[in-house]
Amino acid sequence: MGKIETLQTWGRALLDFAYPPHCAVCEADIEAAELLCGSCWAEIVTRRSHPQTEDGSRAFEQVVSLGPFTGALQQAIYALKFRNQVRLGRALGERMGQCLAEQLAPLDCLLPVPLHPARQRERGFNQSAEIAAGLGAVLGVPVCHGVVRRRRNTRQQALLSAEERRANLLGAFAPMAALPASVRIGIVDDVWTTGETMIACAQAVESDRLWAVVLARSDAGDLLT
Ligand SMILES: [Zn+2]
Repeated sequence: MGKIETLQTWGRALLDFAYPPHCAVCEADIEAAELLCGSCWAEIVTRRSHPQTEDGSRAFEQVVSLGPFTGALQQAIYALKFRNQVRLGRALGERMGQCLAEQLAPLDCLLPVPLHPARQRERGFNQSAEIAAGLGAVLGVPVCHGVVRRRRNTRQQALLSAEERRANLLGAFAPMAALPASVRIGIVDDVWTTGETMIACAQAVESDRLWAVVLARSDAGDLLT
């Protein structure tokens, strides 16, 4: 353990002493490393209802999600994105990898949906990259960066009509590097809603061996980007 890691460990221990850690979903007391309490984790991994679904766009061979965008999974994703619970991204990715290892086995690499650099600076991290890191570690699959970039900082999709959303996303992603045609790529994001963001990203990847891999699937409109 290096000096910085040692300091971080001590710093965290001190913080845990001063502010005992709570579940990011239900606020129950927990061990620091768990991030969520046992019952919230149990709800997340047992409420799988969308193991595999067609997206109708033919952009993806499969759309795979850990569960519906409801309950503890929804709250955990809100905590990740809007309450800076960065470590939850990796932890959720790891749980997804453990639950769906068999189903995700055909993937050769993972490609997190990039954020626009300005948005990433504002948030401090890319939640999709955190999820992909956890998934990749469990599945033993590499995470590719620098394959596509986000060239436009798309506005909050929730406020737009379907037509405006599509126009907003047109050309939002640009290719940077090509992967071999034989590689099956899992494009990773936190939530699938209309799928338009992921389909726009898929178009920039230009491969016909793409899967969409998301923590949660929602049919209630694009609430978050
Ligand atoms: Zn909890």
